[in-house]
Amino acid sequence: MAKKGRVFSGARPTGRQHLGNYLGAIKNYVAMQADYDCVYCIVDVHALTTVETTQDLKQNTVEMALDWLAAGIRPEDSILFVQSHVPEVMELHMYLSMVTPLGKLTDLPTFKEKIRQQPDNVNYGLVGYPVLMTADIVLYKTDIVPVGIDQAPHLEFAREIVRSFNYRYNTKVLVEPQVKHTEVLKVLGIDGREKMSKSLNNHIELALTPEETIKRVKEMVTDPARVKRTDPGNPDVCNVFTMHKIFSPQSDIDMVNTECRTAGIGCVDCKLLLANNLNKHLEPFRAKRTELASQQNYVQDVINDGGKRARAIAQKTMAEVREAIALP
Ligand code: SF4
Repeated sequence: MAKKGRVFSGARPTGRQHLGNYLGAIKNYVAMQADYDCVYCIVDVHALTTVETTQDLKQNTVEMALDWLAAGIRPEDSILFVQSHVPEVMELHMYLSMVTPLGKLTDLPTFKEKIRQQPDNVNYGLVGYPVLMTADIVLYKTDIVPVGIDQAPHLEFAREIVRSFNYRYNTKVLVEPQVKHTEVLKVLGIDGREKMSKSLNNHIELALTPEETIKRVKEMVTDPARVKRTDPGNPDVCNVFTMHKIFSPQSDIDMVNTECRTAGIGCVDCKLLLANNLNKHLEPFRAKRTELASQQNYVQDVINDGGKRARAIAQKTMAEVREAIALP
């Protein structure tokens, strides 16, 4: 069946993925392969704007790719590659930077947020981040970029940069990417307060062992009103119940929904039930991960092959871009 166009998405190499990554992005990446030519990029160069040391970069890249592959990214259909393996993106970034007003970049809320987060490391790369992101997207003649509602302004900015380039050089060589709004599930961490994130250490990794999963789920914060086992609870304010609704069969969800309110079930048993359901859900993923990890160089080979395929597209685009600019 003919595909509907090319999708591009990128994510920083954050190592082993957690439930928040899975529900917020990976699941969608896997699903989109049915309808689109998918290009998935591990954006290691973007990571350099914030990381202080690069000693884990390689390992984090491999672990992340392994999780994506085990979750169902098919390298025979999709391109999975590492940003720095296609150096053409840096060249396009440079050309695009010439048509991007500096004031707009420094006015972006994301840039201001980064200044707040790392006041001692406000580097040039941070300012140009959206330009590099645009280069990532348009280098592969991307039709569609899946974004959550909060990311939509970035894509609009990327489209503006493309329009400026095409206008400046009187060309149509760069394609304006379209937004595909995806419902990004906001998954709370085990603290029940903040979004699940590795940096907050409130995450549950997909590749944990069943025992580690149980241990982590046991740490989850529940309805604070349930101090004693005999106190009735409210599942609607409890993140354990939210997770049940995602990973448990309907019969368990219904049971918890009723029994929690009458103190018929205690939080310890409720969490154990969730952990077991979670382990069941992740069993095929974990088996596949173990199998792929046992194949020597498998991930590296996939990434290398993806890099070659991505680069072939990129080189073609860059030849057109240089011609459009009329470089000597
Ligand atoms: S019984 Fe379950 S849903 Fe109810 S408060 Fe405890 S952990 Fe949350």
